[in-house]
Amino acid sequence: MKRLTIKSRVTLWYTLFMTVLTAAVLFLLVFIGGKQIEASVRGRLEAVLADNVSEVEYDDGRIEVDDDLVTFWDGIYFILYDHQGNHLRGELPKGITAEETPAFWDGKMQEVVIDATRWVLLDSYMPLANGTGVWMRGMVSRSEAETSLSVVLNLARWALPLFVVLIALGGYYITYRAFAPVEQIRRTVEEITDGDDLSRRIDLGKGKDELHQLADTFDGMLDRIEEAFEREKQFTSDASHELRTPISVIATQAEYALRHDNPSGELRERLQVILNNSRKMSGMLSQLLMLARADQGRAEIQRETVDISELAEMVAEELREQAGEKGIQIYIHCQPGLCLEGDETLLMRCLINLLQNAISYGRDNGSIWLSLVSREDVIQGYIRDDGIGIAPEHLPRIWERFYQVDPVRSARSDGSSGLGLSMVKWIVEAHGGSITAESRAGEGTTFHFTFPQKSGSVNS
Ligand code: ADP
Repeated sequence: MKRLTIKSRVTLWYTLFMTVLTAAVLFLLVFIGGKQIEASVRGRLEAVLADNVSEVEYDDGRIEVDDDLVTFWDGIYFILYDHQGNHLRGELPKGITAEETPAFWDGKMQEVVIDATRWVLLDSYMPLANGTGVWMRGMVSRSEAETSLSVVLNLARWALPLFVVLIALGGYYITYRAFAPVEQIRRTVEEITDGDDLSRRIDLGKGKDELHQLADTFDGMLDRIEEAFEREKQFTSDASHELRTPISVIATQAEYALRHDNPSGELRERLQVILNNSRKMSGMLSQLLMLARADQGRAEIQRETVDISELAEMVAEELREQAGEKGIQIYIHCQPGLCLEGDETLLMRCLINLLQNAISYGRDNGSIWLSLVSREDVIQGYIRDDGIGIAPEHLPRIWERFYQVDPVRSARSDGSSGLGLSMVKWIVEAHGGSITAESRAGEGTTFHFTFPQKSGSVNS
């Protein structure tokens, strides 16, 4: 039962309840109606018997019957017998013989079916003098009296199932209507979750019922959540923007002091630490600022035709030295001339980030493979390393901001902040592409990505 929707459950209970109620009402009607009909039939029979009592007398050892004796009245047959059951007056209904009728039973209503007709009989014994007496028998067909009741019963046989279907349909319609706002609330919340669009509202319109109140409360809550999110985005954007200048001043000052003041020993070391960390912070801030702007929909993408094959080779060349420090070899397999419409600086950042990660988390004396090919108007690429890999429980989370599988290890690698892959993902998606990661801990990681290719860009 719990697996059913509330709509189905309410409809089911409602239909069950209404069916039982209707059946009970019908049963009561038939039962009471039957009792009433029985009482009225008995009353009519008793009246005829009572009327005829005064018409029978015992005189001179003989039974005298007055001519006023009523033998048929209002559908009732009256037959008179002596105490031995010999017929004296009145006629049985046509086609019925005395053998077909039951034995006398004083005061008891008897029922008998003769030739598919149901008859009701009431007998009354009237004692006369000298141990003699007469049996008075009233007889009436019940079918006549029961017609109206059997009509009701026949109707009920057909009407009840129809009634149940109508009740079920009506019940479902009513609950469907009543629950429509719930469905709207669910759909809106789902859309907000799926699309990350906090500007959506349930907006059920005017209404004072509980569901309208619930929707209004939800909408109010969404207003506040959206406001808080906007404030947070604005704050991140403002903070990263404002911090950039002082950080770059620190970096410049440290650089200047290192170059011109010719410091020695511990002071030089300290200045170098300041310079390194301010550069790291500056890189982090520019990533943060870009993501904050992207969240606000303010990130600018300068679209131009970019030869990504060339760009990839250039980035790989630039990082070859850095890779060489760990003895890592970079192997490039790029189909030449693959172009896309995009922002060269952003695409470069994206490739640098992926390659730098491959170097940072790569194995000493290991390898990195970079590949770019064109498949059906899509540029498909991957960057693979044979480094430390990522455990399955961490893999889905690497795209989250500030997420680092091993912050201690990441901290050692230059400029890591846990923001790189969030930025990479944003850049790829902003260019209409997609990116996924595949990894085995201890064996290496591959980042697969696609970009829509600029049509006719391959000159192979
Ligand atoms: P970080 O600045 O720490 O490198 P990223 O967002 O670029 O941040 O990456 C998030 C985390 O994903 C990293 O901390 C690292 O643990 C993991 N990671 C990214 N690239 C690789 C890779 N090629 N091999 C193994 N782990 C990786």
